[in-house]
Amino acid sequence: MKVVIIGAGIGGMSAAIALRQIGIDTEVYERVTENKPVGAAISVWSNGVKCLNYLGLAEQTARLGGIVDTMSYVDAHTGETMCRFSMQPLIDQVGQRPYPIARAELQQMLMAAYGIDDIQFGTTMVEVVGGDGAATATFADGTTASADAVIGADGANSITREYVLGRPVTRRYAGYVNFNGLVEADDAIGPATEWTMHVGDGKRVSAMPVSGGRFYYFFDVVEPEGRPFKKGSAREVLRQQFAGWAPGVQALIDKLDPMTTNRVEILDVDPFHTWVKGRVAVLGDAAHNTTPDIGQGGCSAMEDAVALQWAFKDNPTDVDAALAAYQASRTERAGDLVLRARKRCDLIHAKNPETTAAWYEELRNEDGTNIIRGLVASIMGGPLTPLS
Ligand SMILES: Cc1cc2nc3c(=O)[nH]c(=O)nc-3n(C[C@H](O)[C@H](O)[C@H](O)COP(=O)(O)OP(=O)(O)OC[C@H]3O[C@@H](n4cnc5c(N)ncnc54)[C@H](O)[C@@H]3O)c2cc1C
Repeated sequence: MKVVIIGAGIGGMSAAIALRQIGIDTEVYERVTENKPVGAAISVWSNGVKCLNYLGLAEQTARLGGIVDTMSYVDAHTGETMCRFSMQPLIDQVGQRPYPIARAELQQMLMAAYGIDDIQFGTTMVEVVGGDGAATATFADGTTASADAVIGADGANSITREYVLGRPVTRRYAGYVNFNGLVEADDAIGPATEWTMHVGDGKRVSAMPVSGGRFYYFFDVVEPEGRPFKKGSAREVLRQQFAGWAPGVQALIDKLDPMTTNRVEILDVDPFHTWVKGRVAVLGDAAHNTTPDIGQGGCSAMEDAVALQWAFKDNPTDVDAALAAYQASRTERAGDLVLRARKRCDLIHAKNPETTAAWYEELRNEDGTNIIRGLVASIMGGPLTPLS
């Protein structure tokens, strides 16, 4: 059994490790020439951590992960703490601590676990076709790779997705841009083991710990799609966008490095339920491109990888049955996370200002119970976090 995987992101690498774990011959093709992930870090929620543990990476994941003992919401203007609570109830309920991890380090861990020399870098797929009994990827240099199946983990602008669906897909602009980066932890921004979230005016500023005494920070700014941005100008943009915000936010703006602050326009794709065509399947963002408002896109890609392994384990000699089982196990769960994130996105960014104002009021009366209930609801439902 041989499977070709297109894309060496979180999804592709997790899938490659998972399939290799059960003895499937894998080949990974990646268009970039080196490990250069876009974005600073991600929060790997407990469902994602359980997948990494399952892939044999428990110790390394814990070493790379930031320790989030508490979470707080802070009023953007007054700097008053709206609520602060322990994350322990969440850990107790789902049986695993979540870990925010720097993206480059997560990516490096996955690539090293698979074997960096086994990844075909600098190889761009331009076409994929899945005939009877085999699938073939064609690359920009004219070479091809054939296997029993091709898994397209080729990200948000996937060409595998177009093949599987038989049509192009237009991504939807979610209405905001996200500035993000890493900065040395500093009490002036927030406590070292706390996830601090400033909210107000339909915007938010977040700082959460990753390993090595650093914060992963992000700012959400609501603005029209396609606004020009000059690299290195993040501090000026953020100073203007967050003028008058609390001292913690000003300290972060002062401290960040504008040259390494990323700016990402946030888009997603309506959930769809066809993930397989013949011997070709999609995985990760190619299958469920989501806004990051519940921090589950990458975790969901890891869940796909575990589910794909299980589908092949249950159908060791029948690739068509394995791909069908993979699709059946994933589309509903992944689609649910996309829609949850979209709903959260609208709430955070004041699509309906009255609803968001009411949410700010709720936060002032929160003891953490409702917030943790929401986080747990997203975590539960994956292969390693079954609902019952
Ligand atoms: C601002 C932001 C914050 C986020 N925060 C979180 C978070 O906190 N928690 C979380 O779980 N998720 C988060 N996400 C989502 C997460 O980043 C993605 O879900 C995840 O990276 C998807 O991984 P992937 O492997 O499917 O796709 P990608 O990471 O996009 O990888 C796809 C790979 O395929 C390669 N590729 C593409 N086309 C081709 C081709 N034709 N030929 C060869 N190679 C190709 C690309 O170069 C790339 O390396 C966030 C996303 C954003 C934008």
